[in-house]
Amino acid sequence: MGGSLVAVTAITLPEHLQRLLAEGERLRRQHHRGRYAPSPTGPLHLGNLRTALLSWLITRLQGGEWLLRIDDLDTPRNRPDAEASILNDLRWLGLDWDGPLIRQSERRGLYATVLSSLRGAGLLYPCRCSRRLLADVSAPHGRSPVYPRLCRGLEPRWGPEAGRLPSWRLAMDPGLLCWQEQLVPCGVLDLEREVGDVVLRRADGFLAYHLATAVDELSLGMADVVRGADLWAATGPQVAVMRHLRPHGSSLPRYWHTPLWRDGAGERLSKRQGGTGLADLRARGLDAAAVLGLLAASLDLVPPATRLSSTELLQEQSLPRLQALLRQTPVAQDAAGT
Ligand code: GLU
Repeated sequence: MGGSLVAVTAITLPEHLQRLLAEGERLRRQHHRGRYAPSPTGPLHLGNLRTALLSWLITRLQGGEWLLRIDDLDTPRNRPDAEASILNDLRWLGLDWDGPLIRQSERRGLYATVLSSLRGAGLLYPCRCSRRLLADVSAPHGRSPVYPRLCRGLEPRWGPEAGRLPSWRLAMDPGLLCWQEQLVPCGVLDLEREVGDVVLRRADGFLAYHLATAVDELSLGMADVVRGADLWAATGPQVAVMRHLRPHGSSLPRYWHTPLWRDGAGERLSKRQGGTGLADLRARGLDAAAVLGLLAASLDLVPPATRLSSTELLQEQSLPRLQALLRQTPVAQDAAGT
């Protein structure tokens, strides 16, 4: 891939935000924080549980604090009983988290302030393209085609037109965006060709997951972001936002995009298709020790049919061993979203 590293525009943030981000920086350097960030769209399946276990292990092996964040901004997709089921499953497995539960829906004011600052710095532009129009003009290459920039460079018009407000997109400069990746040599995406001008606030007023997540990783001081390799592409927009907020060489999180769990036919599990969760395993008579053994054995951390608690697993692992094992499992296919 050709191209040069992308230049970053520094923006002026309100003082309280600067303080919050500086505190996040301190936490990142001193507390080895990690997090698990499920969306409450249904019960966790085995793949989700394995990612949670890895995130917990990677954080605890460094003596760090592990936070639990519920990504519940996309309210129509939320299911009323999902949050309780997620908390129960994590507790049952012995994956304990630190501090209070964090819900993105309770942090909308913070995200809106950051959005205003990005807009004030001229980094966002209003877009009035409908989904229908975009579906017509975009070439069918990949799952989420890059926005063809139809509204970029037009005179900004803020108000409602035909009963709709515009969405707001982040204008990406051409260049390569790089981030620190722990399981492959580095993370890199071409901003123009692979990321594009992503929406940070939708026309219906919803704040985008990318904006919220970028703000959370920085303000909550995440040192390690451990998540499934299907979120590789999401890292582009998120790191792009973070770099505008912390442009002066401050550290960003390290990413661990972990292999996805595949069923016997090689398909990834999905919540929508009701991939196997703890309820099924419990119904088959497995207890927490057996399930933890199953999750750990699926990555060769322990021999098949091992029974152990989360604490025992923690005691017998080391970060270099875990990293080496995960590096052997190819994630490229998952990262491409196939
Ligand atoms: N909440 C999103 C998901 O469950 C993102 C998770 C993350 O960023 O780790 O897919």
